[in-house]
Amino acid sequence: RGALEFKDVEFAYPTRPETSIFKDFSLSIPAGSVMALVGPSGAGKSTIVSLLLRLYDPISGTITIDGFDIRQLNPLWFRTKIGTVSQEPILFSCSIAENIAYGAEDPSTVTAEEIQKVAEIANAASFIRDFPKGFDTVVGEKGILLSGGQKQRIAIARALLKNPKILLLDEATSALDAENEYLVQEALDRLMEGRTVLIIAHRLSTIQNADLVAVLGQGKILECG
Ligand code: ADP
Ligand code: ADP
Repeated sequence: RGALEFKDVEFAYPTRPETSIFKDFSLSIPAGSVMALVGPSGAGKSTIVSLLLRLYDPISGTITIDGFDIRQLNPLWFRTKIGTVSQEPILFSCSIAENIAYGAEDPSTVTAEEIQKVAEIANAASFIRDFPKGFDTVVGEKGILLSGGQKQRIAIARALLKNPKILLLDEATSALDAENEYLVQEALDRLMEGRTVLIIAHRLSTIQNADLVAVLGQGKILECG
């Protein structure tokens, strides 16, 4: 049994119920493995992410984590089991340290030492005391303009604090310059260690460290190996 499994999933978007995106779709990722999912635009990669995050539910079939149907999991528990790093991480209007603390089940219990520790692992320690630009503080300090790579390192630190079982990387390094990409990739490699990972990959370079590559096309896994 896979740590993460899609079994006979059927899905159509509610706005286009006549157009099936998936029929009998199955996919299994063994515990602790890294799977890269590749496929052309429109193949259904983003839809898989949406189903996994429960933005939508399948019409039939199941998605399970360690054999448990995600529809039956306690939402709070479920949230702590899946970590995501996407192309454009969401930042809240508070300090970067607090943004990292939001990864925890109860952010109010997170200590400065814990934040410092995950920020160091994520190559984000040099800017945790700042505020994101646009979120200036009441005492008049100006927020700093964060690069895409810095935002991602904040998201990686947040995910480290969450310590999720399943990690979902949605094109996490596709929009970065070379230097940023190295710092983000190094942080990602540390985050991926020992977890079950699904990488939604657009570029072949991102699949180098995957144990398995699955090719998605026409709503099916065409190849997996
Ligand atoms: P990929 O991420 O591989 O490019 P998507 O999952 O975005 O593929 O798209 C798969 C199919 O689902 C496409 O035919 C796309 O047009 C359709 N689709 C994606 N999002 C929506 C939506 N919100 N509503 C209706 N159809 C959608
Ligand atoms: P956090 O990761 O800070 O715990 P949430 O639990 O709100 O944040 O969301 C988990 C992740 O799901 C977010 O980091 C984000 O990448 C993704 N997410 C949430 N809502 C959406 C959405 N509407 N569309 C795409 N991704 C989303």
